[in-house]
Amino acid sequence: IERTLSIIKPDATRRNLTGKINAKFEEAGLRIVAQKRIQLTKEQAGAFYAVHKERPFYDELCEFMASAPVVVQVLEGEGAIARNREVMGATNPADAAPGTIRAEFADSVGENSVHGSDAPETAAEEIAFFFSGLEIV
Ligand code: ATP
Ligand code: MG
Repeated sequence: IERTLSIIKPDATRRNLTGKINAKFEEAGLRIVAQKRIQLTKEQAGAFYAVHKERPFYDELCEFMASAPVVVQVLEGEGAIARNREVMGATNPADAAPGTIRAEFADSVGENSVHGSDAPETAAEEIAFFFSGLEIV
């Protein structure tokens, strides 16, 4: 059974959408096996998104991720990584399929409501960034 790291981003926590987004995950058969609401510093956001360091939007992305609390969570299920990315929809909400989280809730490619790991290796790294094994049940 697979696990993936999900983040409900500041644009969504600000608009009180945590429950509606979690309902989408649960309807898709993903179990929330760990979850906490935290306030990232810009430095912590930068460390999490280190792979994007050379991208032009890196600084803006780190500012945004530290601009309000986020909800970090571990989702578990059959093919959880791909299933979660399906439920999230395309990075740019304008391209996201109807019914997906980004189509329904996100406003822009930068402030796109959710993050989800993109492969088994990154999922393991990203889960370990936020959670200890004892916190995942
Ligand atoms: P995520 O990794 O958050 O699940 P993703 O894999 O669909 O999203 P990436 O290409 O990995 O997208 O980009 C990571 C994040 O950087 C995006 O979710 C978005 O918040 C931000 N981002 C991506 N492209 C842009 C852009 N052109 N302008 C501003 N921000 C962007
Ligand atoms: Mg990505």
